[in-house]
Amino acid sequence: MSNPAPLSVVIPVFNEAENLDELIRRCLQACRKTERPFEIILVDDGSSDGSVEKIDAEARNNPGEIVGVFLNRNYGQHAAVMAGFEASKGDIVVTLDADLQNPPEEIPRLVDGIDNGHDVVGSVRVHREDTLFRRAASAIINKGVQKSTGVMMHDYGCMLRAYHRHIVDAMLMCSERSTFIPILANGFARRTTEIDVKHEARKLGESKYNLMKLVMLQFDLLTSMTTFPLRLLSILGGIVSLAGIGFGVFLLIMRLLYGAEWAAEGVFTLFAILFIFVGAQFVGMGLLGEYIGRIYHDVRARPRFFVQRIAGESNITTKT
Ligand code: UDP
Ligand code: MG
Repeated sequence: MSNPAPLSVVIPVFNEAENLDELIRRCLQACRKTERPFEIILVDDGSSDGSVEKIDAEARNNPGEIVGVFLNRNYGQHAAVMAGFEASKGDIVVTLDADLQNPPEEIPRLVDGIDNGHDVVGSVRVHREDTLFRRAASAIINKGVQKSTGVMMHDYGCMLRAYHRHIVDAMLMCSERSTFIPILANGFARRTTEIDVKHEARKLGESKYNLMKLVMLQFDLLTSMTTFPLRLLSILGGIVSLAGIGFGVFLLIMRLLYGAEWAAEGVFTLFAILFIFVGAQFVGMGLLGEYIGRIYHDVRARPRFFVQRIAGESNITTKT
């Protein structure tokens, strides 16, 4: 093939000093194998363990191939990847974790996928070396995302992915603060594919996600794909209210049939009324939610649409 598309590899790094040497060695090897111009962008996400010095040194030793991007503090994995996207210049952009759980040797296969005309190439971890809790969480998420974006992908948790330039540009146009990149990307993709990859246990260091960070990440993920939970309030409220009304009617009939003592002298009636009001409150909150949902959509200012390609050109010349 003539002039193969240049490649950018974006890697977020947060206290991964002990993994960096091997990571960079294996990435360089994999990138060279693709026989094209490439850059490896290491984004330091506020590390404090010597990762910064290491990245600096590698950038000096491998001019033109390794680029360091240093954030002033820890912003989180997805923000770091976005920073890397902003610095990237390649037509193909691959993301990868720094902990060597995803083997860099898979990069050429991802690149092939984009070369073959796909917008996003995802990866599915075949033998996943994670805890049961995380695997279960992933399973639920994958289902939800498939429903909301309509794109069938099996493994959103795996960051070993390749994107075409125009997908990256579209993502950079989104001004929301909390993002979940694989899902955001799928919103702009037309042709996607997946490859199977190996997944290894983390060699050195420990996961940078504690339980709290993991829960927050799930919220990022949920809110990045849907505002349905806000609507759930209205639905729930409607159901409670209707049940309250139904209960009230039932009480009235029973009372007419069996007399006042049947319904515990009006205590149940109070319950029926309470249900109706509680339900109404929920509906009210749901209504607020509808407004908030719309505000949220506008605030994150995602592009309204995304033109991937235009065919043909009209004869009309524009005035200058
Ligand atoms: N990471 C980051 N900032 C963070 C947390 C993680 O840049 O706040 C990076 C981390 O260095 C690694 C990747 O994101 O390259 C994935 O992190 P980790 O392996 O800890 O996540 P897990 O594999 O446990 O999901
Ligand atoms: Mg990991």
